[in-house]
Amino acid sequence: MTDIRKVAVLGTGVLGSQIAFQTAFSGFAVTSYDISEEALTHARERFAGLVQTYEKDVPGAAGGKAAHALKRITLSSDLAAAVADADLVIEAVPEVLKIKQALYANLAHLAPEKTIFATNSSTLLPSDLKSSTGRPDRFLALHFANSIWKFNTAEVMGTDETDPAVFDRLIEFASAIGMVPIPVHKEKAGYVLNSLLVPFLNAAASLAAGGYADPHDIDKVWRIATGAPMGPFQIYDVVGLTTPYNILLHGDEHARSLAAWLKENYIDSGKLGIATGEGFYSY
Ligand code: NAD
Repeated sequence: MTDIRKVAVLGTGVLGSQIAFQTAFSGFAVTSYDISEEALTHARERFAGLVQTYEKDVPGAAGGKAAHALKRITLSSDLAAAVADADLVIEAVPEVLKIKQALYANLAHLAPEKTIFATNSSTLLPSDLKSSTGRPDRFLALHFANSIWKFNTAEVMGTDETDPAVFDRLIEFASAIGMVPIPVHKEKAGYVLNSLLVPFLNAAASLAAGGYADPHDIDKVWRIATGAPMGPFQIYDVVGLTTPYNILLHGDEHARSLAAWLKENYIDSGKLGIATGEGFYSY
């Protein structure tokens, strides 16, 4: 059971729209905030797309339930109104430190005392943001995976100042919206998922770029020998090659050589993964 009732989700992009929709689908009243009317127009399109996706992919969502979730979402470009009575604010704005810090500095004054702030940041630590929030005891990370209706983990990670009771309330809330909550006990860049996934994908690229084995055979080994449903290059195609490429570009010399391999052999010819119809596989 959760005592959280009203949720505001900031940012209506890829993840913000999914978080808002999943929360509304789970029965909560949600305010979805973005910076302009133009952004909200895109948000309406994203929500309409999510209704169709849920009807197709989520058990029990057909027959009007997914469409009904839309009625629980209020769209707003007025930050003060969006957070006025929120129990929880989930922030999913661009992964840019200055944008997030400025937003929290605003929120610190606009949101009521009771409101918990949670960031969905993938690469920033909550410690990078906590001093802007004005309430470090009620601030933590709540990190979702893309396509949350099927990849339903929610990693919960506080700072050394997060109140343990707030941490527990977020674990309960994550369950209440259909997520499998994963408590992360100490701050860790990449949480659990990316701490495992990034080195795994890099190791696979090292094998293929080094000429040791072909991508499809590397995937075969992983699937057959471990029973996993997908090999690393299938995962590259799901994630899209651009994000791993950008991560590798910021690494050491070996990582940058892997970035160059991805770029020359795949990215430059438009093979970005499932989204473009071709990556390591054709779709
Ligand atoms: P996105 O670019 O798709 O969407 C960002 C949205 O924020 C846009 O709608 C934009 O108009 C809006 N925005 C810009 N400035 C704003 C402001 N000041 N206040 C409110 N909204 C503002 O980004 P995304 O992929 O949804 O990522 C959002 C966050 O979620 C990032 O922190 C990212 O690290 C994290 N995340 C992304 C993924 C993913 O797979 N895309 C997965 C997990 C976590």
